[in-house]
Amino acid sequence: MEIRKLYLTKNDCYKRGKYIKPKGIMVHSTGANNPNLSRYLPDDGLVGPNRYGNHWNRPGVGACVHAFIGLDKNGEVQIYQTLPWTMRGWHCGRSGNDTHISFEICEDGLKDPVYFSKIYTAAVELCVALCKEYNLTYDSICDHSEGAKLGIASNHGDVSHWWPKHGKSMDTLRTDVRLRLMNAPQAIEQLARLGVINSPSYWLQRYRDLQYLDKLLVSLAIHATKKQAEIKALDTALERLSKAGVIDSPDYWRKNAGKIAYLDKLIISAAEYV
Ligand SMILES: [Zn+2]
Repeated sequence: MEIRKLYLTKNDCYKRGKYIKPKGIMVHSTGANNPNLSRYLPDDGLVGPNRYGNHWNRPGVGACVHAFIGLDKNGEVQIYQTLPWTMRGWHCGRSGNDTHISFEICEDGLKDPVYFSKIYTAAVELCVALCKEYNLTYDSICDHSEGAKLGIASNHGDVSHWWPKHGKSMDTLRTDVRLRLMNAPQAIEQLARLGVINSPSYWLQRYRDLQYLDKLLVSLAIHATKKQAEIKALDTALERLSKAGVIDSPDYWRKNAGKIAYLDKLIISAAEYV
């Protein structure tokens, strides 16, 4: 997804003009039911008109982030960069401002799965791009609520009050970013860990010998990891096996799976194939 630029040059934060060396990314959401970028950004032709003159490109707002994710005037999700990435933002009220690149996601009523899936994908893409540009790792990403727990942000609940309603969390975001940042050697390592391949050294020697083999390995590693992440609880595995008619007494296996080493792992792995 393209990252469009619309610097909020009239915001006091921009005018202060301090810079940081980014050490992480903090994810925010706006806390108000208005998914339109035009609530926060002035119109550039695509954002759409800000009807009440309350966008953030003016003095006295008291806050500023590095980017916004939300809807343009056509109802499409867009990413807008609003500050230079290395400028010090005013987003979390504490020391996280000195270290973290920040972005706001415009909230809707928090219930629409279609909007959610689009903003989630955009958030992953933005984090991947920033990790690449500033050599950041997936575990340097937190949301405002995690920042508060770490003592680097004020006490807010975003985005943990929203994402779990749609089966996502900062953990899934970090996993998705980690997978997207994976190179071929890391993919080979991961495939070996998952038991998909059993001779990583062979693949490490050969992955450059055929065009696109590196990309194939990364793609396989991402798919296999996701597949595994889907089923990690014995309960889920038993439920799936029982529904498929592979077993007929899930309760028995739930009670007794711990009695034989690796039986739980066998059940979990098997459930991935039904
Ligand atoms: Zn926040």
